[in-house]
Amino acid sequence: MISVEQFLKWIRFAHEKIQQHKNELTELDQAIGDGDHGVNLARGFEAVVQKLDAHEGKDLGALCQEIGMTLIAKVGGASGPLYGTAFVRMATAWKGKQSVTYPEFVQGIEAGANGIQARGKAGLGDKTMLDVWLPLADYLARETETVSWKEVERFVYQQMKSTESMEAKKGRAAFLGARSIGHRDPGAVSSYYLFAALCQTME
Ligand code: ADP
Ligand code: MG
Ligand code: MG
Repeated sequence: MISVEQFLKWIRFAHEKIQQHKNELTELDQAIGDGDHGVNLARGFEAVVQKLDAHEGKDLGALCQEIGMTLIAKVGGASGPLYGTAFVRMATAWKGKQSVTYPEFVQGIEAGANGIQARGKAGLGDKTMLDVWLPLADYLARETETVSWKEVERFVYQQMKSTESMEAKKGRAAFLGARSIGHRDPGAVSSYYLFAALCQTME
């Protein structure tokens, strides 16, 4: 279903989206955090795409491992280790593979979501990036190869938007308690851009 070439396209697309929406992500984080989410991720993805230029001969596992380690090193904050862990877990799922089938792809996303949960100890409804990752992993697991990626994007968008009415239980936004209600979670929004880029690549 996804080859090294398509995977690289996905990550480059994601990079473009993160750069385009850097200010929006920062503003969201100014509302309920410390205002660095856009800057953090833009710096991390910049470093990621630079490394991808030397991808010759690497399989999906090796690429994900490199992306994960780069995100951990360059993004910082809470989201760096969390996104980094997600890609490192995908690396394990896709080790040695030049391409993956749909079920293998889904296993990678599930492993990524579980990695974020294991590392950050958040649950569904805690107003974090997990509110995008976990439902997406479940959605994809119920689907097959013939899934409509347009529908997947719509689904991910709805999940991201649903964080608006949640009260934050994890991360900096949790310090605000009920005052976090009414704002979208920055990490859920950046995860939406990551997966919107995937949907565009697969369409
Ligand atoms: P920091 O809050 O350290 O400045 P960022 O601003 O880069 O880090 O990232 C904030 C995002 O990280 C939040 O919007 C949320 O989605 C995510 N996040 C924070 N803590 C957790 C956690 N324990 N589990 C899952 N996601 C989390
Ligand atoms: Mg922040
Ligand atoms: Mg910070």
